[in-house]
Amino acid sequence: MDLFCGVTYKQLVQYTGYGLSNDHALKAVTNYYRRRIPDFQSMKNIPKQVRELLVSKFQTELFSPVRYEISSDASVKYLFVTDAGKPFETVFIPDGNRKTVCVSTQSGCRMGCPFCLTGRSGFLGNLTAGEIIGQVMSIPLTREITHVVFMGMGEPLDNTDEVLKACEILTSSWGLAISPGNITISTVGITPAVKRILIESKCNLTLSLFSPFAGERAKVVPAEKKYPAGGIIKMLRSFPVTGKRRFTIAYIMIADVNDSDAHLKELIKLLKGTSIRVNILPYHEIHGDSCSPSPADRMQYFRHILTISGISSSVRRSRGADISAACGLLASGLKK
Ligand code: SF4
Repeated sequence: MDLFCGVTYKQLVQYTGYGLSNDHALKAVTNYYRRRIPDFQSMKNIPKQVRELLVSKFQTELFSPVRYEISSDASVKYLFVTDAGKPFETVFIPDGNRKTVCVSTQSGCRMGCPFCLTGRSGFLGNLTAGEIIGQVMSIPLTREITHVVFMGMGEPLDNTDEVLKACEILTSSWGLAISPGNITISTVGITPAVKRILIESKCNLTLSLFSPFAGERAKVVPAEKKYPAGGIIKMLRSFPVTGKRRFTIAYIMIADVNDSDAHLKELIKLLKGTSIRVNILPYHEIHGDSCSPSPADRMQYFRHILTISGISSSVRRSRGADISAACGLLASGLKK
């Protein structure tokens, strides 16, 4: 039996053998995703025989987390496991009226960034659009979610088809109806897939830079060798931005590694004259590594100089610092 979570309106209409009218298909997906009605029999705006047909064809259950940890700042990290036994993580981050879910797109990751625990622990497989959407729909405060960020385990643009399908379900009026301006896809930069995201979605895009120097970046972000960040920034620079859409550089600052004046100067050179924002992030120390986050005043200094250079920037505070907050930690705990 197929999983209903992950089915789009168009796909449901195309199940013509089922004899579903467009109207019934629209009601079924709207009831399930937008109204969060968890089973077909409770969808009273659909005739009984259609409900029974859907019950016989689809399974509506969502994955439940197998473990969770609550931070003192109220962030919650969930661990899920697919039917095939692949672990992946989801983080719920409340911040006043803003309630964000950080979703995974893969179990593990094959990009091999050495500073990332997920990268270190190998690749187990892609998640389906249903498994991505299910992360948003199965957490307790699902109806209050305002923002979704694709920043959990995995490289979203190494699973582009499923990510684009998940974005369609997240943003459609029959889906979760979240504004694309409230959805952010974060990537280390895979140029052809970046192009697809720009054209086929209206979601925000964040490029993880690590270093403005190509040679230095290539040492920690292997994708740089094939898909230089400079080329992606050039593409973002010329891409017409409409509505609330935003392009951002995520800059994880590590003490004495990428927080020098030379890095700051090069960053300004790379971004001056663009509308690309810089989000400065504190580095999450991984047990056993020798790196540490840049001091708070150094991060504020970067923000200040970028801002007065005409580059919009902010320092993001660390959330969930007292739980297994770094991507991959909860899943790595499962393996022990
Ligand atoms: Fe993958 Fe992102 Fe970790 Fe790199 S930083 S290994 S792309 S999850």
